[in-house]
Amino acid sequence: MAKLGRELRAKGIDIIDLSLGEPDFNTPTHIKQAAKTAIDDNWSHYPPVAGYPDLREAICVKLKRDNNLDYKPENIVVSTGAKQSLANAVLSVVDAGDEVIIPTPYWVTYSEIVRLGEATPILIKTSVHNGYKLTPEELEMNITDRTRLFIFSSPCNPTGSVYTKSELKALADVFEKHPNIFIISDEIYEYINFVGEHESIAQFNSIKDHVIIINGLSKGYAMTGYRLGYIAAEANVAKACEKLQGQFTSGANAVTQRAAITALLSDLRPTREMVKEFENRRQRVMDLLEEIPGIECAKPQGAFYVFPVIKYYFGKTDGETIIQNSSDLSMYLLNKGHVSTVAGNAFGDDDCIRISFANSMENIEKGFLRIKEALAKLK
Ligand code: PLP
Repeated sequence: MAKLGRELRAKGIDIIDLSLGEPDFNTPTHIKQAAKTAIDDNWSHYPPVAGYPDLREAICVKLKRDNNLDYKPENIVVSTGAKQSLANAVLSVVDAGDEVIIPTPYWVTYSEIVRLGEATPILIKTSVHNGYKLTPEELEMNITDRTRLFIFSSPCNPTGSVYTKSELKALADVFEKHPNIFIISDEIYEYINFVGEHESIAQFNSIKDHVIIINGLSKGYAMTGYRLGYIAAEANVAKACEKLQGQFTSGANAVTQRAAITALLSDLRPTREMVKEFENRRQRVMDLLEEIPGIECAKPQGAFYVFPVIKYYFGKTDGETIIQNSSDLSMYLLNKGHVSTVAGNAFGDDDCIRISFANSMENIEKGFLRIKEALAKLK
């Protein structure tokens, strides 16, 4: 969508981008300053593969401060973005033929990395009616002798659902009975949470050694371009990830790592201000969605997306284009409404589209007006 949007823009068409998967905020000044200082101080050599010891220590401090979790530097591996952390973790624990349970809708990289590891993604559908959350019964029903891994995100991209402590405990009780299964808990949207404290499934000691936390600085600190992610995991898993990364890319960018120490150890005021703005936009987006007929949408509890069900428009046409699925609708909104969104089939749910509110209030207002007018033409 980004590429198509750029092509239309190059033709002089004004496209409003509501497909963005990153904060539209700048990195806080003190973190930028730390990066500049790192350059001047000649942090220009190969860093250790798993990350500088003081960064891994800072991540442990963060995990204790924010999540009350005890980890040591030997449990931490720093990578080039949370995406690499995820790839390392999946490829470290799965073998060919293993099954990996992924609740849908899910972030598309999960299933693709699993396939790269020659394992089989087992997709379990959740829906708007259960708040896009997997129940312990659904989890249990899908576990087989081949299940090796479970992957989920909370807050979730694309639905914005956030698991409560008791919901996580119920899932943890199931995992406790199946000690061969690892759990990848993607917590990259941790700070962008509108409903309360973040809860990590790693807090349950009976399964903690099987949990691989994925987190990073991209979303919470508006640092997508710096590329900094990390895992917190049992030491053998961390060692495997380090080995793998040692062959693929070596350590993450040295300057980024130095800036990350400042980010992790300084106060979270800029993050909180950003989240407050996301919360204002979330309310406005929900109000704007209500003005559009036929749309059903859960109010996101975290992240910066809405994921409305748009299947009411399937089978309708503006006289030229017939809408049959989420890709058709997303393309229609781009070509006729000049707004870019992401089709739900990219997240394993073809009844929906993802609309991002990581854009200014002005662009959100304009974009939703365009969406409303374009959809009104479909009969
Ligand atoms: N996990 C989820 C759920 C995401 O949405 C993203 C980015 O879109 C990532 C991980 C990857 O983050 P990074 O940019 O740090 O690689």
